[in-house]
Order: sequence, then C-alpha cells, then structure tokens
Amino acid sequence: METEYIAERAHDVADIERNLLRALLGKRLSRGANLSGDTVVVGHNLTPGEAASLDTGHVRAFAIDVGGRTSHTAIMARAMQIPAVVGLEDISRFVSGGERVIVDGYTGLVIIDPDSKTLEEYRKKASISRDFYRRLRGEVRLPAETLDGYEIGIAANIELPHEIHTALEWGASGIGLYRTEFLYDGGEPDEEKHFRTYKRALEELDGRYLVLRTLDAGADKFHKEAVGYQEKNPFLGCRSIRLCFQRPDVFRSQLRAVLRSSAFGSVRIMLPMVSSLDELRRAKATIDDVESELDREGIDFDRNIPVGIMVEVPSTAHMADLFAKEVNFFSIGTNDLIQYSLAVDRVNERVAHLYQPAHPAILRLIATVIEAGRRQGIEVSICGEMCSEPIYAILLLGLGLRSFSVSPISIPTVKRLIRKVNMRDAAEAARICLRHERAEESQAFLEARAKDLLPELFQ
Ligand code: PEP
Ligand code: MG
Repeated sequence: METEYIAERAHDVADIERNLLRALLGKRLSRGANLSGDTVVVGHNLTPGEAASLDTGHVRAFAIDVGGRTSHTAIMARAMQIPAVVGLEDISRFVSGGERVIVDGYTGLVIIDPDSKTLEEYRKKASISRDFYRRLRGEVRLPAETLDGYEIGIAANIELPHEIHTALEWGASGIGLYRTEFLYDGGEPDEEKHFRTYKRALEELDGRYLVLRTLDAGADKFHKEAVGYQEKNPFLGCRSIRLCFQRPDVFRSQLRAVLRSSAFGSVRIMLPMVSSLDELRRAKATIDDVESELDREGIDFDRNIPVGIMVEVPSTAHMADLFAKEVNFFSIGTNDLIQYSLAVDRVNERVAHLYQPAHPAILRLIATVIEAGRRQGIEVSICGEMCSEPIYAILLLGLGLRSFSVSPISIPTVKRLIRKVNMRDAAEAARICLRHERAEESQAFLEARAKDLLPELFQ
C-alpha cells in the first residue's frame, strides 16, 4: 500500500489474526516459544508485549525497522540485556530467515551473512564486551561516589518483575521507576493482581524503595484493552493520567493496591504525564479519597506515602517552581520531555537524528527543574534513558543531579563514570554546555570527556 496510514493498518490485521488464534487455542500465544538455538529477531515492529513474550533462553538480539533510541522496543532489549538496533527502516525486507546476522548494538550496525573475517572480528569484540561486564561485576559493592566524595543514588528502571533481581545484582539502591503497564497486557488487571505484584516486589527489595508509576498507557505504550479506542494522534491524546481521569475505576483500583502495598515496604507514588497543576491536584484528591476509603475499611497503609510526578511535559518543566511546592519529589522523564519539547516522535526512525538530548532547550529545561527542586528542598531524580548513557551522566551531575534511575544493565557503567568524575569538573562541563548554541557542540564535547574518563567503554 502506498499510503502510509493504510499500510500501517496491516499490523491491525495481524493483530486480529493473533487474537483469533489465541481465542481458538484457548491460550496466550507465545511467539517464538519453540525456538531452538541462538536467534536474532528481525522484524518491522515489536511491541513491548511481544518482546516480553519471547523466549529469552534463545533470543540473542533484535533488529527492527521502526523506532528510536528511547522507543519501548529498545528499552525492552535493555531490560532483556541483549543488543538491539532499531530504526533500520527496511531490514525486515532483507532477511527471510536462516541467515547469519551480526547485531552491533554499540554502533547501530547490522551485518547480514558476514564473511569469516568479519565474523571473527565480531567474535573478538563480543568477547571483549563480555570481559568488560565481568570486570564490572567486581565493582557492584563499591559506592557510587565521585572523586571528591559526593554520594550519588543509582536506582533502576524496570519494565517487568523479574528485572528486580537483575537490578539488585547490579547494586541498585531501589527501583526509581516501576513501569506498571505490563499488568494491563491481555486485559485489565484487578486490584488483587496489582497488589500481589507490588507486595512481591517489596519482599524482593527487602527494605529498598519502590517508586510505583501509575498507569501510563497510550501512544508508545499502547494497550487497546486499556485505552479502548484508536486515536489519530495518540501521543497528544487521552493517555496516561488523562486516561486515568476518564476511567476512575481503573485509577482507583491501582491506587488502592499501591496504598495497600505501602504497608509492606517503602513505596512512593509517581504520576506520569502531568501537564498542569489542576491535574496534579485532581490526582492528589483522588489519592486522598482512596486513603479515606481504606481508612473506613480498616486497611493499613503508609499515611506519609511520598507522592511525586514525572516531569516529562514542557509545561510542567517550565512551572517546576510551582509544582515543587505540591509534590514530594520530581523524576525527570527525558524520553518524553525531549519528544514533546523538540516535537520529535521518539519512535519515528525518520526523525531520530533530531532527537537530541543535548539540545540547548533540553539542557535549560533540566537545569530549571533541578534548580526548582533544590530551592524547595525536594528530591530531583531522572529516569529517562538519557541518564543511562555515561556521556550525559557527566552533564547531569554538573547540573546538580544527585539521584539517577537507569536501566539495570546501565548501572555499572554509570557508576564507573561517577567514580571517575570530580564534581567541580562536572559543574564546569555543564556550564560550558549551557553556553553552547547547538546540540552538536555539547554532544561532541561530552563524548570527548566521556572518552577521556572511560576509554574502555568506547573501545
Ligand atoms: C520518560 O518519559 O522519560 C520515561 C522514563 O518514561 P517512559 O519511557 O516510560 O515514557
Ligand atoms: Mg514517559
């Protein structure tokens, strides 16, 4: 089909096919369940749900036509600790199955049917990479402390429950972002399903904190069951907190479970996609109301449960001083903050080059949010993928961030960088970047700094 919009509908037809088969077989279809041997998944698209159902025992990498660095397919690959290259545009046309494929997640290169020399070269590279991570394992217990003694919190972002184990293995101080959308895959979960999942997470965390983000469905995290209908422009549509207001039953049942679980450990509530003070106040009023309901029922919960917001919409970043007075913490969600500020779809490979974390407008917004939090004395953390990349970690430290939440697999590299940085140098690097007029200048400058500090990461 020439019209892109109609061509995209092919996925809907494929979806119907899957759902029909699922219904006829009376079970959930596990794609790739009968894989044998090492497998690279090559395709046009891979939803987070599809990625989660893949057999991790055999899938070694993804190579996907669509998507950008912060699309959920890429985030899922990090969660599965496998290499991925997304946004390849048409790789699925060149691979029909059975080929040997190299996926270089470091450089974004995919090689189909490599010759023996290339294969050997990449076997060596893979072995160097494995050795590097093996050495990092030895640093798990070391504190995330700068050369001049600033202690930095490194928590983990997780998509799926089993990642808590990985996060703890890499030394996470807690879970800074628990994306709860997976619970809605395959239908709306009831309060008990929420509660069981959160309680189990707290048991595993053994006293460490858990930031539970309320439902952020819609757009890239699209779950038809939750949203109920298609929208022309879902990124700007009825998603996330807006959807929760439209479906108070869905919101309240999750909040009840979150609050109930707070009796069993250190829980914080995080509200996604808040774009106005009215939204925040309405969500907080709902939380108050659910608390009163639990009180009446004699159910225990943490009466001082911290309530914070993701700062991921430009309006909220600009008004951070006002929001800071009404929340207990901020978590900067750069994945969305970048796409909404620069008007660049985070999952569209054709504009991926315009998705620039080091864009001057983004640096100014981040600095504004950190400063607002500092003045009000509330914690400011960051959970966007930007902080999982060591080159930006220097800048973020220099801008004043003292708390990071990164994908579990990124914890050791970010920590190694922190341990090599002097805060005075980081602050100077941030000042220099804030003076730049173009993203490319800061990008090149930060890359050079990171290469000096962590040459082994760039080998
Ligand atoms: C973000 O937007 O930066 C974020 C961490 O949330 P998500 O990637 O789930 O949208
Ligand atoms: Mg987001």
